[in-house]
Amino acid sequence: MVLAPTVVIGAGVIGLTTAVYLAEAGRDVRVDAELLPDATTSAAAGASWDPFLAEPADLVERWSRESLVVLSALSADKATGVRMVEGTHESRVPSGVPVWATWADASPCDPAELRQGYVEGWRYRAPVIDMPRYLGHLVDRLRKAGGRLRQHRYGSIEEALSEAPVVVNCTGTGARDLVDDSSVQAVRGQLVVVENPGIRTFFCDDTPGAEELTYIYPQSDVVVLGGTSDWDTWDMRPDVTSALDIVRRCAAVEPSLVDVPVLAHRVGLRPVRPRVRLETENRGGAMLIHNYGHGGAGVTLSWGCAREVEDRLRAVKEPTP
Ligand SMILES: Cc1cc2nc3c(=O)[nH]c(=O)nc-3n(C[C@H](O)[C@H](O)[C@H](O)COP(=O)(O)OP(=O)(O)OC[C@H]3O[C@@H](n4cnc5c(N)ncnc54)[C@H](O)[C@@H]3O)c2cc1C
Repeated sequence: MVLAPTVVIGAGVIGLTTAVYLAEAGRDVRVDAELLPDATTSAAAGASWDPFLAEPADLVERWSRESLVVLSALSADKATGVRMVEGTHESRVPSGVPVWATWADASPCDPAELRQGYVEGWRYRAPVIDMPRYLGHLVDRLRKAGGRLRQHRYGSIEEALSEAPVVVNCTGTGARDLVDDSSVQAVRGQLVVVENPGIRTFFCDDTPGAEELTYIYPQSDVVVLGGTSDWDTWDMRPDVTSALDIVRRCAAVEPSLVDVPVLAHRVGLRPVRPRVRLETENRGGAMLIHNYGHGGAGVTLSWGCAREVEDRLRAVKEPTP
């Protein structure tokens, strides 16, 4: 069967993962993106596979679990930028068994191992991802599978639909303008990259209702410290006060971070939406599949969503090339 040529709009983790999945399934795929991978929000992410509660809840659980399997397998090859790391989610108040404990195969922390000020926690192993390197791995895989990457900004979705009979919209916060979706909000996140003083485990403050995000993700030679969550803020410049606050909060739970040299600052815009949008539209015979609005969980959901796009394409009669 001849498969219809496909344009994927967006070169963040969602667009690239979708493009790799489709190209490796034998499709002729081109990724068109205004920002190339290194300049996207995806490149700024922490990042870890992080159990995340979002809507649609049943699908989010499935997509997270599927992505965990793929990312765990990728960790066998260091060049991918994915490593399995052990760590904890800890809470300052009792909060019971998290629903994700079974998906992540998490076990309760011994009270003696909790950080100062925390009363409960869950320990598990998860993929921790060096995003710039990982996005490079995805681009390599895309090219090996015959796919292409082009820098191009679409002014309208109709322009994209005139390029190919199948279009997958992976534009993150860009969907707000491209498909006029005012339910997409930019939630700005800032991180600080510091020298690694010898930290080997990740930490995430999981206190219900906490006003600030505090997390520590060790990469091999650096540690990524987070973070912020600034609603409807599109400013991509790092803020000095926020950076100092992030380091102070992280050093309060991990004293080896006191006075550690700062290497870089990262800022990205989480594409937050009440529900992830994975939907198919028939546009005058062409097929448009939306795959955006993954909020703070794009990495965590990426492989499950890519597979869902391919499943949807396989389930329908495709437009003729
Ligand atoms: C600080 C921070 C930490 C995070 N940590 C984690 C984490 O630990 N785990 C996790 O799972 N997630 C994390 N996230 C969330 C994750 O980064 C996002 O969910 C994910 O990057 C979204 O990916 P995306 O591909 O949809 O969007 P993006 O990475 O923003 O990519 C969008 C792409 O679409 C292109 N585009 C947009 N409009 C157009 C247009 N009109 N024409 C052409 N191209 C267009 C852009 O140029 C870009 O290439 C974090 C986010 C931040 C900010």
